[in-house]
Amino acid sequence: MINGRNIKDLEGKIKIKDNDVIAIFPPIAGGRPFKGSNMLDDDFPEALQVEVTNRCNFNCQMCIRRVWEARLQDLNLDLYEKIAKSSFPLLKKLILYGLGEPLVNPNFPEMLRIARKHLPKDSTITISTNGSLLTPEVAKKS
Ligand code: SF4
Repeated sequence: MINGRNIKDLEGKIKIKDNDVIAIFPPIAGGRPFKGSNMLDDDFPEALQVEVTNRCNFNCQMCIRRVWEARLQDLNLDLYEKIAKSSFPLLKKLILYGLGEPLVNPNFPEMLRIARKHLPKDSTITISTNGSLLTPEVAKKS
């Protein structure tokens, strides 16, 4: 499910099943909005947001997660690696979180390693975390 739509084949490279968790939020292509509904019609996006999990270890009062009924799950590492190989080399910015706490995904340190392997050297990785699981050990692994 990407931006609320089922997309089975992203640019013919990424095979995505209906129930895979992947969220790609409004993409940025050279600072310009995408034309039409196919975000790959024109430029490849500079930034990609991948939701590595929609689970969280908190349940904050103001969180949007309180009013949705999404199935809670982590992004599959194999699917993530396919996305990384096909898309990350073209990005300037990777955003590795969605509407969950990224560090509850046990594969998150490995996802960071894969991202660094496939992203261009001058690209950036952005995460947002509630910080509760960010121990010195996790920081070292990441
Ligand atoms: S995602 Fe953020 S706001 Fe929502 S419950 Fe977790 S920590 Fe709280």
